[in-house]
Amino acid sequence: MLLPYRRTQFLAFLGGFILTGVLVLAYAVGSEKPAPTIQHKEDSNAAKRMTLLLKDFAPHPMLHPTVHVVPRAKFPVIDVHNHVNDATGHGDQIPPAEVIKAMDRANVKQIVILTGMWGNKLQAVVDNMVKPHPDRFLVFAQPDWSRIDDVNFGQEMVRLLDDGVRRGARGLKILKELGLNVKDQSGKLVAIDDPRLDPMWEECGKLGIPVSIHTSDPEAFFLPADRHNERYEELMHNPAWSFFGPQFPSKQALLEQRNRVIAKHPHTTFIALHVANWPENLDAVSAWLDKYPNMYVEFGARQAELGRQPRRARKFFLDYQDRILFGTDAEPVEKMYASYFRWLETGDEYFEYWGYPEQGRWEIYGMELPDNVLEKIYNKNAQKIFSQFKGQPEGNKP
Ligand SMILES: [Zn+2]
Repeated sequence: MLLPYRRTQFLAFLGGFILTGVLVLAYAVGSEKPAPTIQHKEDSNAAKRMTLLLKDFAPHPMLHPTVHVVPRAKFPVIDVHNHVNDATGHGDQIPPAEVIKAMDRANVKQIVILTGMWGNKLQAVVDNMVKPHPDRFLVFAQPDWSRIDDVNFGQEMVRLLDDGVRRGARGLKILKELGLNVKDQSGKLVAIDDPRLDPMWEECGKLGIPVSIHTSDPEAFFLPADRHNERYEELMHNPAWSFFGPQFPSKQALLEQRNRVIAKHPHTTFIALHVANWPENLDAVSAWLDKYPNMYVEFGARQAELGRQPRRARKFFLDYQDRILFGTDAEPVEKMYASYFRWLETGDEYFEYWGYPEQGRWEIYGMELPDNVLEKIYNKNAQKIFSQFKGQPEGNKP
């Protein structure tokens, strides 16, 4: 039995306990993720000691993992996503012989230059890269959006494309500007599934050339560039890459527009670049690949996304081994290719993706893909697509 004095003390203790419990509960209900423990710690002396800025934080991992260096791919590679010496003039021109030397050392047999534009600019890429080295380089053409308001835009693009193919183009490239930036004279964004573009998609099917299409961007680019954004540093370096705000369609809306085009043109092959631009959600991409037999994916510049979910990514690569193409979207240097080969061929753990830490401060893990899958992804799937080419188109020049 409690003495009066001790009972008072006990009641005070009990009251305090209940009050604390109520406060903790209220805090838990009122707060959202992430867990508030970090803020609690910042109240302590540790917060005063933490004067290092995030941008300067570059810890060296103390792991001692196995390292395999893979300078040469196990099978010859076709890099279906590149911009080396393209028609846009954005990148530095590299002497073709230098590019070929790096390709030979890395076992890259062919590079697809996606941004070939049209007309004379396309011709210059053909003359500089493709004609002197027909086994090593392919070039794709692009539509001329500045003509979107022409009455017969669709037919004009068909003629432009036919002309491009006669010059040597073997595919059509669509940049992310379609859906995000291209506007017509009404001031409205041109949707990816705008019917004015239908003749162009159809013509690609008739010619037997693929459409390599880049739609939307990483999921985080459509969210506020705040402290919860996993691509915060990248968005601070490239503010124009943020598509957050009412002036932009949602990522979901853009992907749906693209998928409607793929569904509407079943005789045209679509290579949905950057893992159909939702590598963060491989369940969704898998469902699309099941639904659209004319859809393929490529993984250029998405090593960081796939490499941080190695078990799910490996399953994806095994499940869709006939639908995935090798692409890099990076300057074709040996070290870059070695990074991709290490990721695809070895089981190495916790290493930097190519371009680290631009996309985010996480490391990646190798997938150790089996040989038969590697060979399909490195070259067989791409070869199958390019073998669908039906020959030079008939008809008038644009
Ligand atoms: Zn690209």
